[in-house]
Amino acid sequence: MTNPVSICVIGSGYVGLVAAVCFAEMGHSVVCVDNDEARVKTLREGGVPIFENFLPELLAKHRAGGVRFSADLADSVQSSEAIFIAVGTPQGESGAADLSFVEAVVSAIAQSITEYKVIVEKSTVPVYTNEWIRRVLHRHGVDPQCFDVVSNPEFLREGTAVVDFLHPDRIVVGAGSERAAEVLRRIYEPLTGGAYYDREDAVQGACNAQRPARLLVTSAQSAELIKHASNAFLALKISFINAVANLAETVDADIEDIAAGIGMDSRIGSKFLRAGLGYGGSCFPKDVAAFRWVAQQRGVDFQLLDEIRKINEAQKQIFFNKVLSALWTLRGKRLAALGLAFKSDTDDIRDSPAIDVIRKLLDAGATVTAYDPAAIERARQVLPPSEKLRYARGVYEAAEDADAVLILTDWKEFAAIDLARLQRAVRFPIVIDGRNLYKPREMLDRGFTYISVGRPASYQAQQGKPWGVVL
Ligand code: NAD
Repeated sequence: MTNPVSICVIGSGYVGLVAAVCFAEMGHSVVCVDNDEARVKTLREGGVPIFENFLPELLAKHRAGGVRFSADLADSVQSSEAIFIAVGTPQGESGAADLSFVEAVVSAIAQSITEYKVIVEKSTVPVYTNEWIRRVLHRHGVDPQCFDVVSNPEFLREGTAVVDFLHPDRIVVGAGSERAAEVLRRIYEPLTGGAYYDREDAVQGACNAQRPARLLVTSAQSAELIKHASNAFLALKISFINAVANLAETVDADIEDIAAGIGMDSRIGSKFLRAGLGYGGSCFPKDVAAFRWVAQQRGVDFQLLDEIRKINEAQKQIFFNKVLSALWTLRGKRLAALGLAFKSDTDDIRDSPAIDVIRKLLDAGATVTAYDPAAIERARQVLPPSEKLRYARGVYEAAEDADAVLILTDWKEFAAIDLARLQRAVRFPIVIDGRNLYKPREMLDRGFTYISVGRPASYQAQQGKPWGVVL
C-alpha cells in the first residue's frame, strides 16, 4: 500500500477488534490496546475472544505483521498517527451514556501526546463528546496544535461485522479541520478508491472497484447525531412492525405478508421490518435511551423515542403471555428455549430478549433447557445458576420431553429443524416462535400447535376439539 497510516485502536471488543483487524487488512500498521490483560494475552496467543464471521481468518492472516496487541496505552499512542477510541459507552442510570471509559482513555492519551495526533471517536457517543474530549486534553495541558478530534461512528452489525466494515454503506467522518479529515481519507482510501476490492484475497461483499465505499465528511456534531439518529430509526422500524404485528393478530391478518407489502415500497425498504421479540443487543436499547437523554438536555420533546422503547419492552411480555395462554400454568412445566444471543450469528447476549424471556419463565416456576450455537458460555455468566435451568448441546436434546419449544433467536439452524425428529423428542408438539421462522400452515400439517408473532395461531385439533385455544 502506498500511504499506510500507523493506527492505534483502544478497546478490543466487538468494534475495536474488528476495526483493528480490518485496518490491517486494508494495509495499515495497527496496534490494538486493551486494559484487560487477559484479553490481550488471549489475542497474542492466537485466541479469538468473540464469535464473528471472518474474524479468525483475518486475525490469523495479520497477527504476524499488520496488527499487534498491547496493554501499554502510552507506548501505543506515541507510535501512532491516528488513535481510535472504541471502548464501551454503556447506559447510565439516567439513560445517558456513561462516558467514564472514554474520559479515562482520553486522560491517558493526554499523557502521551508529544506530536500531532488525530483522535477518533469510534465509540457511539452523544453529541458534543468531541468538544469534551478537546476540553479534557486541554485541561491536561496538551497543546491544541498537537491534536484534532474526529467523529467516525461505526455502523457494523454483529454477526456480519467484518463484511460491514470492509463494505460499508457509508463512512461518516465528522471533522473540524481539513488536516484531520485528510488523515481519515487516507485511512479509508483502500475502500473509497476501490483498490482493496481489486485484490484477489479481498473479503467479498457489496462494494467493488467500480462501486467503492462512499465517504461523507460532516461536522463532528453532525456525525455524532448521524449515529444516534440511525440507530434510533432502525429501532423505530422494528418497534413499528411489532406494533403492526400486534394489531394484525387481532384481525387474523399475517404480518409476514404485511411486512412484504410495506417493504416493497422503495421509500421504506424491507430491512428491519421483521416482527418478533423486539430488538436487543449492546446498541439499540442504550443508544435510543442516550439519544432521548440528549434531546431532553437540549429541550427537545422527542417523545417518539420513548414510544419505541415502550413497544420494545412490551413485546417480551406479550410473548410470555402467549406461552402462558398455550400452557395455562408454568410451574413444573418443561420448556425448551432455542436461542440465547440477542440475534443470530453472534455470541452477544447483552440486553438479549431471549435472556429476558428465560428469566420470566424461571420466575414463573418453569424448568428451562436452553440451547444456542454460540452464546451458552456468556449466558451462564448472567443467568443465575439454578436446578431449573439446564443447557443442552443441541436442538433435540433441549426439546427432550418438553411441554413446548420456544424459538427465541433467529439462528439459521432453528429455521431448519428436522420436524419429525422434534415431534419424537417433545412431550407435546407445541412450538411458540418469537422469530417467525416457520409457516403456520406447514407446522399445522406437520402436527404442531404453532403460535408466532403477528399471525393467526394454528392449533392442533384433538378429538375434533381444538386444544390450547387462547382463553
Ligand atoms: P465491548 O464492551 O465489546 O469492548 C470494549 C473494550 O474496551 C473491552 O475489551 C474493554 O476491556 C476495553 N476497555 C475499556 N476501558 C479501557 C481502557 N481504559 N483502556 C483500554 N481498553 C479499555 O464494546 P463494543 O461492543 O466493542 O462497543 C464499543 C463502542 O462501539 C460502544 O460505544 C458501542 O456503542 C459502539 N458500537 C458497537 C457496535 C456493536 O455492534 N457492538 C456497533 C457500532 C458501535
